[in-house]
Amino acid sequence: MKLFSCPHCSNRLYFENGLCLSCGTAVLYDPMTENFVVAGQGGFACNNAAPAGCNWVAETETGFCRACSLNKTVPDMSVAGNDQRWAKTEAAKRRAVYQLLHFGLDVAPKASPGDEIGLAFDFLADPGGGGPGGERILTGHDNGLITLNVAEADSPEREKMRVSMGESYRTLLGHFRHELGHYYWDRLIRDDAQWIDRSRAVFGDEREDYMQALQRHYEAGPVGGWEQNHISHYAASHPWEDWAETWAHYLHIYDTLEMVAALNMPLGRIDTAVEHDLPPNEGEFADTPIAAHTEQIEPPADFDELLTRWLILCEASNQINRCMGLPDLYPFVISEQVGEKLRFVHELLAETRGRAGPH
Ligand SMILES: [Zn+2]
Ligand SMILES: [Zn+2]
Ligand SMILES: [Zn+2]
Repeated sequence: MKLFSCPHCSNRLYFENGLCLSCGTAVLYDPMTENFVVAGQGGFACNNAAPAGCNWVAETETGFCRACSLNKTVPDMSVAGNDQRWAKTEAAKRRAVYQLLHFGLDVAPKASPGDEIGLAFDFLADPGGGGPGGERILTGHDNGLITLNVAEADSPEREKMRVSMGESYRTLLGHFRHELGHYYWDRLIRDDAQWIDRSRAVFGDEREDYMQALQRHYEAGPVGGWEQNHISHYAASHPWEDWAETWAHYLHIYDTLEMVAALNMPLGRIDTAVEHDLPPNEGEFADTPIAAHTEQIEPPADFDELLTRWLILCEASNQINRCMGLPDLYPFVISEQVGEKLRFVHELLAETRGRAGPH
């Protein structure tokens, strides 16, 4: 994620802003230019601005923004609390979609229910309120349709799930990135002779029976020594899950390092980008170490440098969180093998981005 500036007064804006706190201008985020515009001049608000707190520009054909136009089913607003759950869900989804567009990935809604190429979201609640023995809505992906149980937007519910599943990390954004990983595996790898071979060499053969693999995982627990080869124990259940977990982690890492670059945070010895990233007219920004214009700032294009910066940042941020009595920011270990899996995602996205042209 980047930092932004007000189209009226150039004050800093953050991704979630709908109003410039300096000049009072109502602003909207335009995902196609990755900038904010003045509401009503540079574009009109998405139809979900009021019900779901969306701050993106509407597309003229639908009245919905790029992210909201992907919705197939939204939560039942007659249920108490669903307005809050939906707003939190959309906020996480917008962050996920921002990054997909940033990487030049195709983000198009399904044209019809049978369309297997497009993307769609179902935000559903357990029928009967999720009581014991009742039917549960499972978060998952099926041919471009991503289902999310909106109970995941309730912190106590999500924390209960996290503990019962033995996970060290569970967030709405993490769910989106993981499920989108399944979607882009179909789009970018499944039908590409070269990438499918490479995928099998790195993640294993995905033709292994998926349902059996998951059943084994849930019954017998994670395979011993999974930490050596996988970013999480769930990633050890099947090559598809390994891919989706690794993809999600790569997106977490990239997003965070993008913000580190936007903030001009020096990261240890390896940091050579700080001076380089400063705008030509340094004097203008002498009062702040943070770059005001961030269009050119990206994490390192070289994977080894990216990973090195990430490891330095993780150690620092984990220790800082502990000083505050908080859980680690990044409670994972990246083994050498996991590093190679992340490199696969890096190279795939670099190639995709190259095909789509500079964004
Ligand atoms: Zn302003
Ligand atoms: Zn929207
Ligand atoms: Zn999955």
